[in-house]
Amino acid sequence: MRAVSVSPDALVLTSAFWQTNAVALRAGGEAVLIDSPYLPEELDALPGVLAGAGFEPDGLLATHADFDHLLGRLAYPGMSLGLAETSVERLHREPGAAQRELRDFDAQWYIARQAPLALGQVQALPVPGRLDLGRGEHAVELELHPAEGHTPDGMALFARPLALLAVGDYLSDVEIPWISGGGSLADYRGTLARLAPLVADASSVVPGHGAPHDRETALRLLDEDLDYLDALERGEERPDLPPGRDSKAQRAIHAENLARVSG
Ligand SMILES: [Zn+2]
Repeated sequence: MRAVSVSPDALVLTSAFWQTNAVALRAGGEAVLIDSPYLPEELDALPGVLAGAGFEPDGLLATHADFDHLLGRLAYPGMSLGLAETSVERLHREPGAAQRELRDFDAQWYIARQAPLALGQVQALPVPGRLDLGRGEHAVELELHPAEGHTPDGMALFARPLALLAVGDYLSDVEIPWISGGGSLADYRGTLARLAPLVADASSVVPGHGAPHDRETALRLLDEDLDYLDALERGEERPDLPPGRDSKAQRAIHAENLARVSG
């Protein structure tokens, strides 16, 4: 797990698996952790790493309800987990799905965990909406923006005073736009359109997977992703994939996207 401080009050933790990012933010004497690292060793180390860096969380958040983003409770059992209303609805629509997918993935990679994932009570957050982080004059407001299309649910979090934007599974330098189950091309385009002005106001943009970006890089990825969505919409079987994302694994995601969009 790599820890990179992208601002004095924002720490990005990148898992060795899928380069999954967790983001710790602090303001006004409080901290939150958005999303989670993946590997058991990383989750075991997380409380020590965050406490040592001064980011001990008071609450957990997740950008969307895909299982790889929901593992914060494995490091902080019993801590409250806030999700967009759309994500809570998805968890209710598909009871046990996240736990089952985690079990299946762990089985595929022979990853052993000491405890199963228990999501317990989750807190549904209205999106669009706002969330206060911290108390007093140093408190900051987190803006919650809808981010659907990759999945049927989700939110991007913008800490405007910190110029930090956590987007979930969009604007990745390691993954092409992925229209997964319940997602849609039209919603994906809507999310990119919504993210563009936020990216323009951000200094750091943290995707769900891959490196944190500066503004220029994030805007370039956004353009590449729009080009890709155009090719997908045209039904191209072998489009040019963006530099750094033209791999067998990304071609497999493209094939899945094609099947979903044309089906
Ligand atoms: Zn993900």
